[in-house]
Amino acid sequence: MRILIAEDERGIADFLSRALESEGFATTCSADGAEAEALALGGDFDLLLLDLMLPRRSGLEILETVRRERPELPVIVITALGQKQDVVEGLDRGADDYIAKPFDLDELLARVRAQLRRPAQRDPTRLVVGDLELDLRTREVRRRGEEIRLTTREFELLVYLMRHPNQVLSREQILSAVWGYDFDPGTNVLSVYVNYLRRKLEVDGEPAPIETVRAAGIRLVGPRV
Ligand code: CA
Repeated sequence: MRILIAEDERGIADFLSRALESEGFATTCSADGAEAEALALGGDFDLLLLDLMLPRRSGLEILETVRRERPELPVIVITALGQKQDVVEGLDRGADDYIAKPFDLDELLARVRAQLRRPAQRDPTRLVVGDLELDLRTREVRRRGEEIRLTTREFELLVYLMRHPNQVLSREQILSAVWGYDFDPGTNVLSVYVNYLRRKLEVDGEPAPIETVRAAGIRLVGPRV
């Protein structure tokens, strides 16, 4: 397993690299945003540890490109303690997890392993449920062959639903998987997005295959196999 460490603070990069190599990972460090981005897109890595403050290209910019070009690459954002806004923004832009400096070594290793175990990496780049098709690489979504344009968040929500067809998913489950941070339990953001999705997925008068299961959650209905 190869891990790319994009971090310009030499001491931190060395610490991460030593810790990960002692656990059997191969690491490459880059202290430059533009170089790190090119390496991440190069395709030789299984995971990216990404500092947000990098010279030439910021971590958030890199994250955006990586999400577009290599959606399957797990990204863990490195952030300084107390930079909650950074964490929120990182997760919003598609980071899979974050760790705060100063690091707890066991926690760091646990999070890295968790990302490398993620089933997402074994998933094909294309998801199909009934007449819905989604391409994780190009982010193209089609229903009955008709292209549907989704915002980033709508897309992430649909990916999650399509990965669990015919399962009733609770609000909490979806919010933590798709929004990923401590959400306000009273938030109605999920219903709002489900409504957007329903509207966009309605094709030829055929209602979207998304069911609300009273008091339980939401289900994407697909063919039973
Ligand atoms: Ca930095």
